[in-house]
Amino acid sequence: MYSQESISGHRRGRPEPTAETLSGLACLICATDYRDASAPEAVVVSHRDDRQLLACRGTCARMAGGSVDGLDETPLPLDERVRRHQGPAPHDGDPS
Ligand SMILES: [Zn+2]
Repeated sequence: MYSQESISGHRRGRPEPTAETLSGLACLICATDYRDASAPEAVVVSHRDDRQLLACRGTCARMAGGSVDGLDETPLPLDERVRRHQGPAPHDGDPS
């Protein structure tokens, strides 16, 4: 789980994703908030646990995953990502 204790080492390698990034609400690279109406199109570039990590199509996606179009995968709808960010669904099993 995401916790404050990871902050101290977050300059090592890639920056530590924020809670918003882990919920697919912000770009993994530039941290653009996709809830903003002017945000660019998001593509799936990686996964953390069972969640999609998103980046802006183009430069950010290429930095994150090596492809400007990200993975061949459709991001969850924004409202679904917001809902998951605000709280886990009751039926979401967490085996770990
Ligand atoms: Zn971006």
